[in-house]
Amino acid sequence: MARARKPKQEPVRIRLKKNDLVEVTTGKEQGKTGKVLKVYREKNQVLVEKINMIKRHTRPSPTTGQGGIVEKEAPLYVSKVKLVCPKCATATRFSLTRTGEGKKARVCLKCKEMIDG
Ligand SMILES: [Zn+2]
Repeated sequence: MARARKPKQEPVRIRLKKNDLVEVTTGKEQGKTGKVLKVYREKNQVLVEKINMIKRHTRPSPTTGQGGIVEKEAPLYVSKVKLVCPKCATATRFSLTRTGEGKKARVCLKCKEMIDG
């Protein structure tokens, strides 16, 4: 059977940044929160601390003798996470606004607090 080709991912505007706190909204990690370690804009994925851990089997190195199973984070799609507002500690929706200095800032739609700056 021919394998279906994956539909090409349209790059979306990712509003998440490194060190943002996010909550997983779906999958086996649902409800967990973690810090964004890395954003892969071209793949629409984020790496979140302690979320989506995978086990990597590494071959023991002949020099150090180290090897075995290493646990590390695997990236997950941005659509699976929600930004958590640091002010009201809820995974809410955000809108973009401009601050007095003309910078963009994210505003929590629940408590109306600015997230950035
Ligand atoms: Zn809030």
